Amino acid sequence: MKDLKIIITGYEAAPFYKRGGLGDVMESLPKALVGIGVEARVVIPYYNDIKEKYHFGKVGEFAVSFGLKTEHLGIYSSVLPNTKVLFYFLQNRKYLSLSRAKNKTKRMVQFAFFDLAVVSFINYLGKNHKWHPTVIHCNDWHTALIPLILKKMGLKISTILTIHNLLYQGRGSLKVLDLLDIKDQEAKALKRGMPASEMNVLGEGIIHATRVSTVSPSYAKEIAQTKHDHNPISPFLIEREHEGLGKYGKIIGILNGIDYDVWDPAKDELIFHKFDINSWKVGKKDNKDDLLKSLGLENRPTFCFVGRMATQKGLGILIETIKRIAHLNINLIILGSGDLRIEANVLKMAEKFPWVKTELLYSEELAHKIYAGSDFIVIPSRYEPCGLIQMIAMRYGTIPIASKTGGLKDSIANGKNGLLFQKGKSIRLKKAIRHALNIQKDSVRYEKMVERAMRTDFSWKKSAVLYKKLYEDMIKSTLTSTSV
Ligand code: ADP
Repeated sequence: MKDLKIIITGYEAAPFYKRGGLGDVMESLPKALVGIGVEARVVIPYYNDIKEKYHFGKVGEFAVSFGLKTEHLGIYSSVLPNTKVLFYFLQNRKYLSLSRAKNKTKRMVQFAFFDLAVVSFINYLGKNHKWHPTVIHCNDWHTALIPLILKKMGLKISTILTIHNLLYQGRGSLKVLDLLDIKDQEAKALKRGMPASEMNVLGEGIIHATRVSTVSPSYAKEIAQTKHDHNPISPFLIEREHEGLGKYGKIIGILNGIDYDVWDPAKDELIFHKFDINSWKVGKKDNKDDLLKSLGLENRPTFCFVGRMATQKGLGILIETIKRIAHLNINLIILGSGDLRIEANVLKMAEKFPWVKTELLYSEELAHKIYAGSDFIVIPSRYEPCGLIQMIAMRYGTIPIASKTGGLKDSIANGKNGLLFQKGKSIRLKKAIRHALNIQKDSVRYEKMVERAMRTDFSWKKSAVLYKKLYEDMIKSTLTSTSV
């Protein structure tokens, strides 16, 4: 068996650049893999946001042909702080400076360029460092063209595409293919189920990757069975699911974990008071007192919401529920940013109800303080591929009240370490909130629930072992077949 050498690539990676759960995963998965003896390295773009903060040293350069031009790339490198995980950052002023290019077409072009750069970089690593990856682990649409580019170049390296959120697919102009010098006939499946003028980058990944996975077993089932609102990608996924294991079919669901070095109330420098399972009663009370004081809220049962302001996150349901629970004498703290329309609606609620406090921003520090100082976290997602906030909250002794869907369903045991309610129904959420308040009044029951939540094992080790098995399985399949 060949040694496992894994390249993990994607749009973001904490602590260098993070905007959502993918950023957490791109930090903690490689760290956990290296921890169990797998050689995993990470490649992400060297955005200006990263460059200005970290000033890494340049370790090499290479060039690619993109469209009719030759583009030069700088290679920068660093280890993940306090680990042996090697990170590479690819720099190109024209395409990779901005973390968020101005429009959809620009973003598609940007990541087509990045994907080509990653493949060329792999060649560079082989030639210059004699380091040949055995598996390339792509994440979401941003890196979903890598399997197709590898095939076009005749490179037989196994690829896995992990879908962190099916909503974001990279749909747009076929121009991207010209830039990559990929002819339509080389990507015959391209035009299926969509207008001929459009391509679907994630769809390409689903078709061409050796294996496809997602971030929880329940979400894997959900996306392989249901036709998501006539989602153009459904037929590809369903086909993949039914190919049969011999041809590497089936969409695999591996639940994400959280990094216990980052999310640990006993060591967290960002919270007001550190605590652990033995001191949580005092610790959480002190954190709550300081949090409420800093936000100008009275001492009451405190619920929170942390997350992107996106339709997926169910803020519409939360807003409906706020109107229904005005009489309950609680606090609700909302931290998030994103869709301006949703932000405005949330702000209206905060203006109307003094017990609702909203911070429309992205703040790591405040997020940590809110996890530590709240009693409950509300997660009304319409769907949730995995979700990390419920795991983080539980680690900090904050009970999740979450929609029964996807990874929320897979990580919360209803009535034991949290509460689940039927998704999409504000009346159900209201009921769950009342239920939570009743549980809190019964101190024996509440304390048991908090302690069960804090003890639930969401460490990455279990999942890293599953990924390792999957990589090994992919390599075996590659060795016994002529193509990947
Ligand atoms: P998603 O990946 O869909 O955004 P997850 O629950 O998987 O949702 O992960 C969200 C991650 O982003 C968590 O680490 C959470 O703490 C963080 N996060 C989300 N919104 C904010 C915010 N406004 N400020 C700070 N951290 C945030």
